[in-house]
Amino acid sequence: MSDTANILVVDDERGIREGCRRILTAEGFSVDVAVNGKEGWDMVRAKGPYDLVLVDLMMPVMGGLELMDEVGRFDPEVIMIVITGFATIETAVEAMKHGAYDYVPKPFTPDQLVAVVNRGLEKRRLRVQAQRLIEERDQKLLEVAKEESKLRAIVDSMADGILVINNERQIVLWNPAATRMLNLHEKLETGKDIREFIPQKDLIALIDKAFTPDTSQYTVLSEEVELSVPEPRTLMVNLSVVRDNNGQGLGVVSVLRDITELTEINQIKTQFVTMVTHELRAPLAAIEGYLTAYLQGLAGTDPQVSRQMLDRAKQRAHALLDMVNDLLEFSRLEAKRVVRKKELLDLSGIITNTVELLKGQGDSKGIQFQVDLPESLPLIEADRCEMEQLFTNLISNAIKYNVKRGKVIVSAKKSSHALNIKVADTGIGIAEEHLPHIFEEFYRVSGPETRYTTGTGLGLSIVKKIVESHFGRIEVESKVGKGTTFTVKLPVKEQRK
Ligand code: ADP
Repeated sequence: MSDTANILVVDDERGIREGCRRILTAEGFSVDVAVNGKEGWDMVRAKGPYDLVLVDLMMPVMGGLELMDEVGRFDPEVIMIVITGFATIETAVEAMKHGAYDYVPKPFTPDQLVAVVNRGLEKRRLRVQAQRLIEERDQKLLEVAKEESKLRAIVDSMADGILVINNERQIVLWNPAATRMLNLHEKLETGKDIREFIPQKDLIALIDKAFTPDTSQYTVLSEEVELSVPEPRTLMVNLSVVRDNNGQGLGVVSVLRDITELTEINQIKTQFVTMVTHELRAPLAAIEGYLTAYLQGLAGTDPQVSRQMLDRAKQRAHALLDMVNDLLEFSRLEAKRVVRKKELLDLSGIITNTVELLKGQGDSKGIQFQVDLPESLPLIEADRCEMEQLFTNLISNAIKYNVKRGKVIVSAKKSSHALNIKVADTGIGIAEEHLPHIFEEFYRVSGPETRYTTGTGLGLSIVKKIVESHFGRIEVESKVGKGTTFTVKLPVKEQRK
């Protein structure tokens, strides 16, 4: 409602119309006039809404009651005052039904008119104010609801479980992650005692601990909690006590994080370190043994015996170095950020070179080598150094685990989408029960044939890692006493004619 109230006077009697205009304009109101209901309704639509409309009931074209109906629909807050020559109870009641607020009986004095108009305008002011307050309240409620639902959405979408508990151990807030982690099937309700629905006694004990006075100096209590249902899992529970301004505890916020995978990785790491130290210990102890014996003069005066001891120590030191190199390679491949320089490669050169380089290792056993490669191989996308490492490991195994005058055959064949490279030998073979394990770290088949063959048990696990990092597969076929064939399948990047 603007400072100057807008008033419309609708009356077919010119004297009344103009009289009202004069009196009300003198009072500081902005006044429009209309000669009948129709014109009045047109003005309301064109210039409205008006704060107050004075309406004569008896008018040609469109009567006062009809006009009041239209205007009331147009602006429910409008104040309508009836000007009437026959002020009977009936007409007053009828006018009220059509939305009139008050009436002035003709004839009226200026003071009477001003008094009824002022009363009406005061009513209008209160109505508008009330309406604004309602709108403001609705808006505030909407904002609060929006804020609440925003917070709710954030808490609900968190991967960590949240439980907020008051001093009476009643649940105040929770999210789906918490109900999932704790396997809470029951429908949770605010105010429910946590001891009634959380079956994990350790968790309850930890929450109790957060409430005890002697832990009041801590801001956060963290502890791992083991769960057994629905499956064994480990949760890291962080509890923070919520305090008021006087330091009085109001409740506890618990954040639950599922650390099962992390714990498992930690266990694997620990096992790996134990395994590595164990593997390093044996050759080091042997070297120390030979050197101690030598220094204590156990070799006697025979220079050949002394030499033998030192040779053995050297061999074990060499094997140790091999193992450390393999370990370095292994951890390089394990690291997430391995730098691979992949390029389009023709493997023929790498295969023939590797065979040439390793041939010398087969001399003592009289091993024969055969390389069967088609005229041209399709190109693959691979890291050159890793491919050299892969074939070095496979071919040197084919030599190491071969028999006297055995054969090593390396062949390649293209299939529709893959390049298949076979490294076959006619060696000792691998028994069926060992086959599933030979790609595991440090796995070695022990037996009379392998007793004097040195190795780390890491070669094939490196091979597997390389193949997989090139989106390929490795397969093995073996027969004890007959030989072994490893097949490496790598995706072809570019076919060649
Ligand atoms: P290692 O350093 O012992 O050679 P690898 O990981 O390369 O380690 O191989 C694991 C085990 O698999 C070997 O110790 C051996 O027992 C078996 N093995 C690997 N290649 C062959 C093969 N060509 N013929 C027979 N046994 C093999």
